[in-house]
Amino acid sequence: MTPPGATVPTETQLPAGVPATASVPPAGPLTVLVIGAGIGGLSAAIALRKAGHIVHLYEKSAFANEVGAAIHVGPNASRVLGSFGYSEERMSGVECSFSVMLDGTGKTVFTTDNTDAKKNHGSPWYLSHRVDLHSELKHLALSPDTSPHPPCILHLSTLVTGVDAEAGTITHTGPSTIPSKGDLIVGADGINSKIRQLAFPDTTPAVPTGFSAFRFVIPTAKLRTDPETAQFGTPDRDGGKLWAMKIAFEKERRIVMYPCRNGELMNFVCIHPDEFREGGKADQAEGYWNTPTNILSLTSVYTDYAKCFQRIFTHLSEGDVTLWQLRTLPPLQAWVKGRLALLGDACHPMMPHLGQGGGQSIEDGAALGVLFPLGARPESVEARLKVYQHVRKERAETVQDFSRKLGMAKKGMGYSAAEVHQYIFSHRVEEYAKQSMSAIFIPPNGAADFGVL
Ligand SMILES: Cc1cc2nc3c(=O)[nH]c(=O)nc-3n(C[C@H](O)[C@H](O)[C@H](O)COP(=O)(O)OP(=O)(O)OC[C@H]3O[C@@H](n4cnc5c(N)ncnc54)[C@H](O)[C@@H]3O)c2cc1C
Repeated sequence: MTPPGATVPTETQLPAGVPATASVPPAGPLTVLVIGAGIGGLSAAIALRKAGHIVHLYEKSAFANEVGAAIHVGPNASRVLGSFGYSEERMSGVECSFSVMLDGTGKTVFTTDNTDAKKNHGSPWYLSHRVDLHSELKHLALSPDTSPHPPCILHLSTLVTGVDAEAGTITHTGPSTIPSKGDLIVGADGINSKIRQLAFPDTTPAVPTGFSAFRFVIPTAKLRTDPETAQFGTPDRDGGKLWAMKIAFEKERRIVMYPCRNGELMNFVCIHPDEFREGGKADQAEGYWNTPTNILSLTSVYTDYAKCFQRIFTHLSEGDVTLWQLRTLPPLQAWVKGRLALLGDACHPMMPHLGQGGGQSIEDGAALGVLFPLGARPESVEARLKVYQHVRKERAETVQDFSRKLGMAKKGMGYSAAEVHQYIFSHRVEEYAKQSMSAIFIPPNGAADFGVL
């Protein structure tokens, strides 16, 4: 689907001065440096490896203690995972068959049946533990068995400290044997992106939204041992076969619950206005995904919720709950510069209300794989990145804006869930990228004519 306002190019034009018969032999694989091996960086690495390029991944952490709770993988993203060759079994996702909106008393306000998501959009709507999704992406990027092309090379505990977008070089803390020059550089280093700051020094850091979320998971078996909470640990739809995502909403606060890991874990995201609203500080710059907090700070926000919700909290131990300050970034002027492309949270962090942070970064990665087929010449990188920006920026920023509107809305956001899901879930990023690419002439010397865009 074409993002609103975007024009799909329809004609091919030769730039002035380019001979119609120009013929230069295709190039070999490009060397691609991907900075950050989160969901976005790994998706780009998989897609570019699949195209036949040599991909180096630089990751500052050691991946020793992988963290995160559950994450949505909508049909728009699971379709891409399908083309990457993922294993449903290894990812252990749970299909999001129903969405149930409750109020703070526990009364059902409305239910949405999502069982036709797969039929309508050609791919399932999964709920996955972030660690399971991340592990599957790592497998697809690094295993010699998942592609005929050489596996991506992962450099762990390697912090990238500098980038020269025009020269295609980086500086990093790893040994000098690790490459620091590439044909294409992908800045996938998350919401506090260093690469964004260095390449686009005028951009501001991500800003607090006035909302934070308590996050924790509880084994569903534990919830089922308690008659008060059994309903939250059970696939209670369609005669006990299908799972629902449930959202208990009351006065700007939400308790969002959905299963992951084959239904063994229930994920909770408790979104609430935070002290930033009252002039507090944005002081969680690093590690804001997992700032430790205590159970009392959670329970004190939901004292007016019904007993069944309060009982959920009694299944927690100190150390189980983390606090995530929700931040956002105004749309950037550009995502690309020279040989550098930003992707994922580095350029479009979004509020979690539509569950699309991961999905949009998977789409970004997939688009790069299409726009850089094997044989793409190093001289054409800059031109191809402009097409990447055309294919991705408006789409991801539209989803970012929907997420912000939904997150900030006191009631509805002015669109029905069905309309928004239709827009988000039906997008076929690889086809859209192919379509955009085939309409543009990129001559071997790399200077494309963007008059058609
Ligand atoms: C630890 C963690 C837990 C998360 N948990 C959840 C969750 O439970 N639910 C949810 O919906 N979303 C979660 N997210 C966010 C979600 O994964 C992202 O919104 C989405 O997947 C887009 O990811 P990304 O790849 O763009 O960025 P990120 O997921 O932030 O990945 C960026 C990667 O870059 C690495 N990095 C950063 N700077 C450098 C540097 N200078 N050099 C080298 N490497 C660098 C980071 O270590 C990280 O691995 C989490 C993200 C992180 C990092």
